[in-house]
Amino acid sequence: MNGKIIDISRTLSAGAPVWPGDAPFRLERKMSLEGGDPVNLTTLHMSPHTGSHADAPGHVDRAGASIGALPLEPFIGPARVLTVAPGEDRLIATAAFASCDPADPPRILLRTGADGTQPSFKENFPALSPEAAVQLVADGARLVGIDTPGVDRFDSVDLPVHRHFARSGVCWLENLDLSGVVDGIYTLVALPLKIEGGDGSPVRAILIDI
Ligand SMILES: [Zn+2]
Repeated sequence: MNGKIIDISRTLSAGAPVWPGDAPFRLERKMSLEGGDPVNLTTLHMSPHTGSHADAPGHVDRAGASIGALPLEPFIGPARVLTVAPGEDRLIATAAFASCDPADPPRILLRTGADGTQPSFKENFPALSPEAAVQLVADGARLVGIDTPGVDRFDSVDLPVHRHFARSGVCWLENLDLSGVVDGIYTLVALPLKIEGGDGSPVRAILIDI
């Protein structure tokens, strides 16, 4: 394959930040070679919203698809990485897309400058304004990614950005690690797992610099 691979996935480990109230990430040891078992074997305990992940429309919409039923096309293909500066309200306004062009790819990854190695969950993370979400959909986005734990603010109750994306058939990725990425156009690959009935899925998100 031509092109350098940039890993934009956060590491899943026992110390990974978890949305308050969600199950902590844990690898439960079931068998061990050291203990005389024929294999090393663990059981994975985690919320699908830990680390870099895709939300399913069904996460926020009763009639929305589960993660295993989503089309894969939005999760593979040309994507623009764009550094944005959230306002004092921690929201990304429509002005952030002033440099966007109709010829841009239908995938956009928003780099707010969130830390690459978050030691704990921070509730005051930047998110999209509802107006910005409306504009991205109107501009033809198929997928929107962000480097914070959510496309809506932590204290949002009605989740307008999640709901607008879900209703519009736009997929979204949360908690990407864009700390080492320069703005530009890349090929994104970030496939969710085929989990029947799932409300989300971890993804191994990469950019290919072509
Ligand atoms: Zn999520």
